[in-house]
Amino acid sequence: MAYRKTPEAEEILKSLQKDEEETDFERIRCPLCNWSPNASSRWMCADCDAPEYFYNACYTSWNTFETRGKCPGCAHQWIWTSCLSCHGWARHEDWYVKDKD
Ligand SMILES: [Zn+2]
Ligand SMILES: [Zn+2]
Repeated sequence: MAYRKTPEAEEILKSLQKDEEETDFERIRCPLCNWSPNASSRWMCADCDAPEYFYNACYTSWNTFETRGKCPGCAHQWIWTSCLSCHGWARHEDWYVKDKD
């Protein structure tokens, strides 16, 4: 009875529901250049030196933000994600715009 729905709570609920349905690309941005991917953006699972140091790649092409960085071909969890715009590397989790406190 004491619970009141604040605008913040509604926002959180909304974003949780969205997460289950589809990726909200407006909330994903390159930490380096602020570029935002969309549903048709594609990354390639390819051999990589710094910073990932991943070899024996499977060369699957997919949208890495729909799997939170996990390759659907070989199940490699990519820690780093390259930007299709500035070609810089940033940690996958850093791409998600965080809510202000
Ligand atoms: Zn792969
Ligand atoms: Zn970028």
